[in-house]
Amino acid sequence: MGKITGFMELERIEEGYKGVPERLKNYKEFVIGLDANQAKDQSARCMDCGTPFCNNGCPVNNIIPDFNELVYQGDWKNAIDVLHSTNNFPEFTGRICPAPCEAACTLNVNGDAVGIKSIEHAIIDRAWAEGWVTAQPPKTKTGKKVAVVGSGPAGMAAAQQLARVGHNVTLFEKNDRIGGLLRYGIPDFKMEKSHIDRRAQQLEAEGVTIRTSVMVGELPQGSKVTNWAVKTVTPAQLQKDFDAVLLTGGSEQSRDLPAPGRDLAGIHFAMEFLPQQNKLNAGDKLKDQKIEQIRADGKHVVVIGGGDTGSDCVGTSTRHGALGVVQFEVMPLPPEQEDKPLVWPYWPLKLRTSSSHDESTEKGILKREFAISTKEFVGEKGQVTGVKTVRVEWKGGKMVEVAGSEEIIKADLVLLAMGFVNPVATVLDGFGVEKDARGNAKASTEAVGGYLTNTPKVFAAGDIRRGQSLVVWAIREGRQAARAVDAFLMGVSDLPR
Ligand SMILES: Cc1cc2nc3c(=O)[nH]c(=O)nc-3n(C[C@H](O)[C@H](O)[C@H](O)COP(=O)(O)OP(=O)(O)OC[C@H]3O[C@@H](n4cnc5c(N)ncnc54)[C@H](O)[C@@H]3O)c2cc1C
Ligand code: SF4
Repeated sequence: MGKITGFMELERIEEGYKGVPERLKNYKEFVIGLDANQAKDQSARCMDCGTPFCNNGCPVNNIIPDFNELVYQGDWKNAIDVLHSTNNFPEFTGRICPAPCEAACTLNVNGDAVGIKSIEHAIIDRAWAEGWVTAQPPKTKTGKKVAVVGSGPAGMAAAQQLARVGHNVTLFEKNDRIGGLLRYGIPDFKMEKSHIDRRAQQLEAEGVTIRTSVMVGELPQGSKVTNWAVKTVTPAQLQKDFDAVLLTGGSEQSRDLPAPGRDLAGIHFAMEFLPQQNKLNAGDKLKDQKIEQIRADGKHVVVIGGGDTGSDCVGTSTRHGALGVVQFEVMPLPPEQEDKPLVWPYWPLKLRTSSSHDESTEKGILKREFAISTKEFVGEKGQVTGVKTVRVEWKGGKMVEVAGSEEIIKADLVLLAMGFVNPVATVLDGFGVEKDARGNAKASTEAVGGYLTNTPKVFAAGDIRRGQSLVVWAIREGRQAARAVDAFLMGVSDLPR
């Protein structure tokens, strides 16, 4: 514990943000991280609890009190080693993790949690700047070949772990760049893509072969899942060519809203809208790919879905220059402040206002509607012009419509951001992988035999196994699955769980 009385003397401070007018000019990151002195003060607030709930609340079990202490002592080099011992990519989580560790922090019981995420962010950015993040190629090779299918955070973490213990890893990705939803879901303003590119270089230097634009199996006919694959490899071929296959293809099937009028022009899945902007930011020309960009400028936008994806649609629409954005959430307005003694150390249900919400509120274009449901899309000449809604109440866990509360909300563009139902079934079917009741790959997370599906030598991890989740969970599952694959190939594994 760095400073015994730190938690009593020092206040939590938040990372800074560039001003709204400046950040709306582009899609770049706008968070201003802590400087070294601020990070030292923030880490001094840590009480080094005998039972560090933060460590348990963190899905990758980051050893938080230890890196806090090291930052306080100014030993940043050891701090990044501690951080990397549990998390392959702290620059991803330090930017976009909702930080369940902070909800679990003991200081959060009746005050402000240690700013764990901002300290993590400061450590990894410093480590890159100092040149401390280097490739760790294995000293010896095992001669075993592993195919990892899907290059999101789960696939990247697994590939890295497996390559570092000497396996020949090939990472297959149907899109033209690696990163999964980090690349083509999460907007650049939350996380710039150079962070993924640096890790791709590191993976290659550690011996991972990256094969982009290669689809393993087939997508269903007419699928709206992003796919820039130019080549297809069959599941049978992979099973023949590799000693083990790890499926990390994510949960890509967007939840649809099959209300009357759904086929009108101007209604799109969020995952049709968001990847296009990320591609343009990367310098691609959509026209070359014969794609007309879905634009929000000058439009009244309705975003259906109150979660992260919906918020990203709000932020992107605001940057496009939308005239107005209305975001729907079917659940009632949650409390602004949770009942801490009741919910700590768990993730609380409370109103979450993102930086995208703040921006569009400052511009005066956002309205957030709660307890509202969509009855119908209305339109003229085949183009959506509005959404017919009804107010709802929740009684005994059931949704009940409020009689006479129907109204039509103007909309030139509707973005469906209601989450993802399951992985694209054809990929799992291609490998003969059994699914659970939700359509995800069926595999346990047991220490022995975990992540293995019913198909011999085929494993599954990340959103494809657990359903739509978080980057930090994908990293955890990728790491644990890598250990399971390594133990399967070698009989034992030294990789951490
Ligand atoms: C818009 C949006 C915003 C989000 N924001 C956040 C956030 O702020 N914080 C957070 O923690 N989480 C966020 N999430 C969730 C998070 O991104 C995911 O939980 C996480 O990326 C899942 O990782 P994954 O590796 O399991 O799968 P994914 O990231 O989905 O990666 C799967 C990859 O597999 C590829 N693939 C699939 N099938 C095949 C195949 N057959 N052949 C070859 N390649 C294939 C896909 O193209 C994709 O690149 C967000 C999600 C979305 C959609
Ligand atoms: S729970 Fe909070 S105060 Fe306690 S060790 Fe973790 S970060 Fe420090």
